[in-house]
Amino acid sequence: MKTNIKAWWLGHSAFRLESPNGQVIYIDPFLSGNPKTPDEFKTPDDVDFILLTHGHEDHVGDTLNIAKETGCTVVAQVELSHLLKKNGLEEDQAVEFNKGGTIHFDDFSVTLVSANHSSSFGGEYAGEAGGLVISFEGDICFYHLGDTNIFTDLEIYGEMYDPHIIAVPIGDYYTMGPQEAAMCCEMIGAKVAVPIHYGTFPVLTGTAEEFKKFTEDYSETEVVIPEPGEQFLGG
Ligand SMILES: [Zn+2]
Repeated sequence: MKTNIKAWWLGHSAFRLESPNGQVIYIDPFLSGNPKTPDEFKTPDDVDFILLTHGHEDHVGDTLNIAKETGCTVVAQVELSHLLKKNGLEEDQAVEFNKGGTIHFDDFSVTLVSANHSSSFGGEYAGEAGGLVISFEGDICFYHLGDTNIFTDLEIYGEMYDPHIIAVPIGDYYTMGPQEAAMCCEMIGAKVAVPIHYGTFPVLTGTAEEFKKFTEDYSETEVVIPEPGEQFLGG
């Protein structure tokens, strides 16, 4: 796949992406408290954007600290964004949207799509959980499913956005497990799937190997399994 996007998986649902123009994007930066995140990724200081799928602690993670330290833009669903601002996020750093909405930045755009999950932050209602479709101009589309189980809209998203890479929760317990996740790959039809949200805590028992096996049975999608901290895309 020819792409100018760089991507690292940082453990759990967290990613670091670099756009063609060099914009540094973090998704769900649960880092300092994440037992799988390598030390060198726990306190990033070069961040332009944080994109959030929903309000749970294992996704919002270090967002408020990173935003304070770096002045980055934080993109989140409306109710979650309000709670983040109540907890110290500066107004001019917050970009809010809701499902179906697309925000355009310099060389990429982000669309908030459905996920089948709940969302709260600090015990308060944080709107609905979502997935993030990140489309890089003239380049690939990266679809982070957030926390979810299987649902039929995934087929529409696959058709509409034609994502090259999908990040798929497989850990079971709080999200779908490997078999359901593999069926999602068949529905979306992406070229590459990266398993996420597994192995972080003992209850997340789904394994990447099971996911790979089921996915190969069900679909043409290639499963790529990075180590936490590993760059799996771009040079
Ligand atoms: Zn989660």
